[in-house]
Amino acid sequence: MSQFSNMKGVVEAVKRSMANLVPPPEMLPSEWAEANINIAVGNAVPGPIRFMSAPYQKGMLDAMKEPGINRISLKLGAQLGKTTILQCAMGYHIAHDPKSMIAVQPTEGDMRTFLETKLRPMFEANPAISRKMAKQRGRDGVNNSRIISYVGGWLMLSWAQSPRTLRGRSAPVLLADEIDGYPAGNENGEGDPVQLLLQRNATFGDQRLLIESSTPTIKGMSRIDSGFEQGDKRRFWVPCPHCEDHQVLRWENVTWVGRDSPEGEQLPETAAYACSSCGSLWTDGERIAAIRRGEWRAEKPFRGHASFHAPELCSTFRRLQDIVQSYLDKIAVGDEQSFVNVSLAEVYEETGETVDPEGLISRREEYVAPVPAGGLVLTAGVDMQQDRLECEIVAWGHGEESWSVEFTVFWGDPLQSDVWDELEDHLASTWLHESGAQLSLSGACVDTGGTGGNTQAAYDWLRGKTGRRIFGVKGVPGWGRPIVAAPSRKQSGKTKRKVDLFLVGVDEAKLSVMRRLAVQVPGPGYCHAPIDRDPDWFHQLTAEKLVTRYVKGFPVREWHKTRPRNEAFDCRVYAYAALKIANPSFRRAAERLGNVLEARKNEVLNRLPEPQKPKENPQEEKPPTVAETVKKIKRSSSLKKRGNWATNW
Ligand SMILES: [Zn+2]
Repeated sequence: MSQFSNMKGVVEAVKRSMANLVPPPEMLPSEWAEANINIAVGNAVPGPIRFMSAPYQKGMLDAMKEPGINRISLKLGAQLGKTTILQCAMGYHIAHDPKSMIAVQPTEGDMRTFLETKLRPMFEANPAISRKMAKQRGRDGVNNSRIISYVGGWLMLSWAQSPRTLRGRSAPVLLADEIDGYPAGNENGEGDPVQLLLQRNATFGDQRLLIESSTPTIKGMSRIDSGFEQGDKRRFWVPCPHCEDHQVLRWENVTWVGRDSPEGEQLPETAAYACSSCGSLWTDGERIAAIRRGEWRAEKPFRGHASFHAPELCSTFRRLQDIVQSYLDKIAVGDEQSFVNVSLAEVYEETGETVDPEGLISRREEYVAPVPAGGLVLTAGVDMQQDRLECEIVAWGHGEESWSVEFTVFWGDPLQSDVWDELEDHLASTWLHESGAQLSLSGACVDTGGTGGNTQAAYDWLRGKTGRRIFGVKGVPGWGRPIVAAPSRKQSGKTKRKVDLFLVGVDEAKLSVMRRLAVQVPGPGYCHAPIDRDPDWFHQLTAEKLVTRYVKGFPVREWHKTRPRNEAFDCRVYAYAALKIANPSFRRAAERLGNVLEARKNEVLNRLPEPQKPKENPQEEKPPTVAETVKKIKRSSSLKKRGNWATNW
């Protein structure tokens, strides 16, 4: 009787370990793959892998063995064999050059799909790999849906939201797939998943390698795009079959009947590629032949990070007319973005205009008076909501420089009169100008949008107030509209008096406001805000961004809310509309305030002690600064009653 109950198993185990004592011949991953890998049925080309048919894959795979390599970024379109590259990389590090690996997919479901449809079929079809692996639930290693162990290492399967991926084991080789689908770093209080992987990976020094791949997403938010930019930026150059000039394949050079007339008949079967040098049209066979003679060329020097970009146009598995058809299909449903991302492998540019609220918050300032000296006229913008009215008072100066004076919320149902009474009192107030003058409003715009009942309530309240420069406004979308159009007379109810309703071109008005908020230097257009203004107000003020969307290939610009509350922005838009309607003369306003300031200076000087010897002390001869005088005025309420400087208009 044998010492071992499972002699056959022992012999197998010894054979396996003996096999690993023989050093493997030095082979490039592509050479090893061609000698050992059968691509499982269901992939584009079944049978033994041959990179001749897709030479771009060879360059990406063999980058793994370039001296000094530690990172590979694959920014790829569809049908370029990204999965094949990952499979071959895994097979190579299981069967030929064993190293531990962590493979990451965006979600647990993605990982299960990858395991069941890509990895297991590959293992089953390739004894060269599977004989190195531990048996499932075998005693010689773990082999389950999370860990596959093999002689010389293990492969951990994980996903980006799994804390174990980020904090658990580390391995010299990381394969991060579809990285643009990973969650943003701050969602779970964790850092960026790819950055965390890189940090763990760094401990392996020269042995470390990250292979990251993805189709890109939005410009500025795409991890794979930033990975590509950081690397040496390799693109695939192919020779023209007619002039031999090498070039990168570009979507702009694809022609078909109908391309120049988006509304006309489209004939994708006429698709051809136009050489960017000689202009000759390539047949699809010529395009594929050119790709087979192509090569990767880097734009930047190599410093350990190889990065690759290739669009679907580079695929030898895809007909040009099918790519054109998929373009037409995507455009038809208004989804240009997925074509740009998935086929062109380019980031999609949202040409949105936004302003950073934190920057605005950090530049809040101490006002010397409720209305600082530069603010010459006041307007108000009032936004109507279901349960409240919100009102901003804005001071405007030369070049439409602005100072937010006050922002008030009046709680109450617009269908009841109380909240309107409060608003009326507020709009009838005056605000102290730095010169000492009391300013009243030059104009106010009140939103009449909302439900029918509220609109009617606003009309009722507005009736007869035009003479008091309180205007009803209605926002209308559309580019190219004037910020304020001539009023239309709205018959309101059965009474004879009508309400003047001004139409505000909100798209243009919002753009004006947004661009002013972006002005960084005090002066024309700059927006000032007081030191005590609630930070939430700034978030409301910047709650919308201008987004360019493509409809049938044409850009459409529209405002998108980035957070639910945006009343502060609407109020500012209406206050700006009020300025446009009131159209005050800044020069005259400045003169009046200057006269007030002059009168007040005299008043203050007359009250100074010992006015008979001012020349003996030149320092005291200087009139007090405006700030000093206003402080004096604030302390002395009796002065206000004397009143030759306190003008109200
Ligand atoms: Zn040519």
